[in-house]
Amino acid sequence: MHLQQLGWNSEFQNHFSQLNLRNCIPARVAEENKGLYRVFSEPGELFATIPGRIRFHAEDRTDLPAIGDWVAITPRVSEGRATIEAILPRKTVLSRKEAGKGLSEQVMATNLDTIFIVTSLNQDLNERRVERYLAIVWESGSQPVLLLNKADLCPDPEAFREMVYNVAHAVAVHILSAVSGEGLAQLAQYLEYNRTAAFIGSSGVGKSTIINALAGRVMQRVQSIREWDDRGRHTTTSRQMILLPEGGIVIDTPGMREVGLWESITGISKTFQDLQDLASRCRFRNCKHKGEPGCAIAEAVEEGMLTQDRVDGYYKLQAELQFIERKTSFHARQSAKAQAKRGARAMKRFYKDA
Ligand code: GDP
Ligand code: ZN
Repeated sequence: MHLQQLGWNSEFQNHFSQLNLRNCIPARVAEENKGLYRVFSEPGELFATIPGRIRFHAEDRTDLPAIGDWVAITPRVSEGRATIEAILPRKTVLSRKEAGKGLSEQVMATNLDTIFIVTSLNQDLNERRVERYLAIVWESGSQPVLLLNKADLCPDPEAFREMVYNVAHAVAVHILSAVSGEGLAQLAQYLEYNRTAAFIGSSGVGKSTIINALAGRVMQRVQSIREWDDRGRHTTTSRQMILLPEGGIVIDTPGMREVGLWESITGISKTFQDLQDLASRCRFRNCKHKGEPGCAIAEAVEEGMLTQDRVDGYYKLQAELQFIERKTSFHARQSAKAQAKRGARAMKRFYKDA
């Protein structure tokens, strides 16, 4: 299999060359299961493990390979096995912080060029939810594209396009129907050869249907680990990293489908850029926008330039972020302490052994 077909480009090539590892080849992580990684590489599909030293030096889970990562492997092709020696720098990272679990960051997928935010064209289409998804995508570094699905069920899809324009601004919006196939062709521009995409959105909006439609008959077949294409060459399929027949790669992990409290700092500021611009024009620099005189946000609402809903959405998200930040800094302090202790213990051992 060709590396380009898997998303390889000159940027990754540069990173790989700089590593200067002997006997290593590049591979892309397609699936992970209990520490065993299914990777795709030029010689084909291999099952890889990470050596103890990588696991040992990993400060948290984000330092371990994730789906979508490019890694340097030492292949043992005849055994179908490999060892992961290094992770190449990630171009984008889609992650979520898990509140309640010590706020560890969970990487859902990496190196995604495009993330499609799927919504369905019905009364559930919710600006606040779109805002939140946009924030997640900006934070990841990927390009967001908004898909309004189930157009066949909607008498006036264009009205919804206008509604989301308020929150989506310059983001591309496409109206489609995964069932009738209408509008699906618009997605091809984001799924060119060596481009990687993922789909996020609430359950039931049609993500699987869209992916199945794009993948065509490839997905209809039973997913086996190894398959043979028409020309008898070895091809590989994975449920989580799907190589589309027309080129392009779709990453679809189970974790990507559930949305809890996704955190985003830089993402939020982009999604609510207009609000932040306004806030900078309030008379008082520390304006809380709670009825202070000369509040530019209150004025904009009064003039009908801004809905109170949007302002409330902004506050709500900010409150959640502050909550997460407080928790994160607490955990950061705890883990810094623990690390200092570990360091001291290692030093003692070192001198004892010497
Ligand atoms: P997911 O949870 O986002 O993966 O949603 P699914 O792809 O499983 O779709 C949920 C339901 O919506 C299924 O019954 C689909 O057949 C249906 N569905 C998906 N896309 C469309 C569409 O464009 N039009 C209509 N009418 N139904 C759709
Ligand atoms: Zn104000």
